[in-house]
Amino acid sequence: MRILIVEDESSMARSLASGLAGEGYTVDVAVDGLEGLARAIAEPYDAIILDLMLPKLNGYAVTAALRDRGTRVPVLMLTAKQGEFDQTEALDTGADDFLSKPFSYPVLLARLRALIRRGGSPQGAVLGHGDIRLDTREHRCWRDGEEVALTAREFALLAYLLHRCGEPVSKGELLQHVWDSVDERDANVVEVYIGYLRRKLDRPGEPSRIETVRSAGYRLSGPTLATIASISHG
Ligand code: CA
Repeated sequence: MRILIVEDESSMARSLASGLAGEGYTVDVAVDGLEGLARAIAEPYDAIILDLMLPKLNGYAVTAALRDRGTRVPVLMLTAKQGEFDQTEALDTGADDFLSKPFSYPVLLARLRALIRRGGSPQGAVLGHGDIRLDTREHRCWRDGEEVALTAREFALLAYLLHRCGEPVSKGELLQHVWDSVDERDANVVEVYIGYLRRKLDRPGEPSRIETVRSAGYRLSGPTLATIASISHG
């Protein structure tokens, strides 16, 4: 079971992440709403624990954006206090449950389990970018209708670049999101994997679709990302 925690308070995020990891969940953490949304779209999570008050994009906006894309992943929203929180608005934007801080950890676990039971199997989507198709649930990729075999790391790297397409993405960011590392000494692994992706996705004699942006990192050029289909198997 894979859980995404979107929480900007690092102590809260850390304690939740270690608690849930101890329960056997695989946990990712995003520290603001935009990052949370990008991850939630790119990966097939079984549930999302989403703080309401977040930098860049608040919890309401993240949930609304997910639901607009047809993503049905269960969302448990965390709220700081009764006053700032509108239960009706939370439900309107598509949150499945909510819990106000401070909460008891056993209650959070029970709510999370209930949500996952109701949510069924992981959700995903087929994303399109030019001639590339990416199935985020089955982790499969096609170019021009022909399947391209990608390793899990290559897939995660491509999915992240796709979600940021048109923007330069630094090696540090890719390390953090795709390798869960903040050690810049690992940056050459990013170059190596960009090379693998280029070999698998580019056409001989044509410029690479993954541009190198001098002193900034990489940019996936081309059209904007489109959701071709939402997948929900229950
Ligand atoms: Ca917060």
